[in-house]
Amino acid sequence: MVVGEASGAAGTPVGVILRAVLRAMQVTLVNLFRTPVTVHYPEEKRAYPDRYRGLLALAYEPDTGEEACIGCRLCEYVCPPAVIKVEMLKGEKRNYAKSFSLELYACEFCELCVQVCPTDAIVMTKSFDLATSDRRELLLDKDRLHAIGLVHQQSWATGNKLRTMQGPPKQAAAHAAEPTAASGTKS
Ligand code: SF4
Ligand code: SF4
Repeated sequence: MVVGEASGAAGTPVGVILRAVLRAMQVTLVNLFRTPVTVHYPEEKRAYPDRYRGLLALAYEPDTGEEACIGCRLCEYVCPPAVIKVEMLKGEKRNYAKSFSLELYACEFCELCVQVCPTDAIVMTKSFDLATSDRRELLLDKDRLHAIGLVHQQSWATGNKLRTMQGPPKQAAAHAAEPTAASGTKS
């Protein structure tokens, strides 16, 4: 090996140095003409993959334009690092979130809150565009979460879609619901 030769010699042979320099120049030349893999963000943005899930947001109901959140607090209960806080506001026809806060700086992006939401109110968006050097800006209240939902494209993965995907196949579910003699004899 070259290393062995070099260490065995009293001084570093000129040939070894030349070969190393040429190899380094070759790498530089190859990369000089290679298409860059980086982009000038934020002027230039990459197209996100279809299944990209980034920033969390709150959504409005598409039919009525009302806030979709009913303040049920399921997302608060399921959140592993407990970064969601919701207060329910009781209404005549339905309930709302009186207040909703999310500490994004401690969020794990596990998506559990999205998965349990019965009204598809909390969603992930196709953006990570909220970088800041001020941690306080990542404490999101209800208004900011709604604003993020209006600005950024929503991910395909809503709670209802995810729960449908994770459930058993329809046939198996129907079969499981049928009362059978076999099930009656089981423990
Ligand atoms: S993505 Fe996970 S960690 Fe983040 S708010 Fe939702 S449940 Fe909590
Ligand atoms: S976002 Fe969904 S799960 Fe969370 S409180 Fe609102 S309706 Fe309930």
